[in-house]
Amino acid sequence: GIQPSGHLHIGNYLGAITQWVDLQKEYDCFFCIVDYHAITVKQNPEELRKKILELTKIYLAAGIDPKKSVIFQQSLVSEHTELAWILNCTSARVSDLKKMTQFKDKSLKHGENVSVGLFDYPVLMAADILLYNADLVPVGDDQIQHVELARDLAKRFNNDFQDTFKVPDYKVRKEGARIMGLDDPSKKMSKSADSPANFLGLTDSPEVIKRKIMRAVTDSGSEIKYDRQNKPAISNLISIYSLLSGLSVKEIEKKYLGHGYGDFKHDLAVVTLEFMSEFQKRYSMISDKQAEKILASGAKRAKLVASQKLIQVKKAIGLI
Ligand code: ATP
Ligand code: MG
Repeated sequence: GIQPSGHLHIGNYLGAITQWVDLQKEYDCFFCIVDYHAITVKQNPEELRKKILELTKIYLAAGIDPKKSVIFQQSLVSEHTELAWILNCTSARVSDLKKMTQFKDKSLKHGENVSVGLFDYPVLMAADILLYNADLVPVGDDQIQHVELARDLAKRFNNDFQDTFKVPDYKVRKEGARIMGLDDPSKKMSKSADSPANFLGLTDSPEVIKRKIMRAVTDSGSEIKYDRQNKPAISNLISIYSLLSGLSVKEIEKKYLGHGYGDFKHDLAVVTLEFMSEFQKRYSMISDKQAEKILASGAKRAKLVASQKLIQVKKAIGLI
C-alpha cells in the first residue's frame, strides 16, 4: 500500500511500485490505497478524495493490471480496522510500538499534536498484511521494521490462540530500496517532506523536474563516482539515473569520466523527463470514473478474502 497523501515521488515508484508490477506475473496481488494510514496526520478533506483517485490512476499508469491484481481502498474494507483493534488488544505491546523509528521521526514533526493513530499505525499495517495470507510484502527499506512487527504479531497470535495467520516475508529491491532526498541525501525522499525540493513528483511538470534536478544538492569534489559514504548526494543521483536508464553504475561512471556535475545533471534530467512524459501520458488517459469503478470492484474482491480471515480470528479468540 501507499498513502494517498502528499506527492507520489520517484522513490515510491522505484522502491515500491516497480516491484509490484513485476510480482503480478508470479503472485496473486492485493494493492491498497491506505487512506486510513494517511489520516494518522492531518489531511485536507477536499484534497484527500482527489488524492485517492490520483493514486489509483498512478497504480494503473505504472502498469498494475486490475484484471490480474486487486486494487482497493483500505477504508472500504472495514475488516482492516476491525482486525487492527483485535491485534491491539491481543498481540500488540506498547513497548514494541515505542521502538518504531518511523514513529519517532514523524512524531518529532507534530509536537504536542501527535495522534494516537500515528503511534498505532504499524498495527493497522499488520492487519493490512495478515488479512490476505500474504507470502510477500514488497516495500522500500524504511518499512522493513513494520513488516517485522507484523511477523511478530502473527507469531504471537498463532501461539496464544491457534494457527491463524501466515507469517509474511518482506521484499525490497537491491537497488532503489531507499532513494534519498534531493535537498538532503542523509534523509529518504518523502511525500511528507517539508520542502518540494526534496522529491521528484510523478506528476511534476517538466520545468519543475528539470529545476529540481539542476538544484539538487551535490558533494564536494567534481567526480561522478558512486560512493555512498563519501559522496552520498551524487551516489543517489547515479542510482536514479541507473534505474531509469537501465545503465549500470559502472557504465554511468565511465560515461561521465572527465565530466562535471552540470553535464551529469543535465543528462539525468533528460532521462527522467523521458520516463515522466511516457508515464504522464498514460496517467492522463485514465479518467476519475474509471478509477472509481476499479476501486468499487476491488473492494468487493478484497472483502471476500478479508472477511473469511476475520471470521477465523473472531472464532479463535471466542467472539463467535
Ligand atoms: P510519507 O512521508 O507520507 O510517509 P512516503 O514517501 O514514505 O510518504 P508511503 O506511502 O509511506 O510514502 O510509502 C509507500 C511505499 O513507498 C512504501 O513501500 C515505502 O517503503 C516506499 N518508499 C517510500 N519512500 C521511499 C524512498 N525514498 N525510497 C524507496 N522507497 C520508498
Ligand atoms: Mg512513509
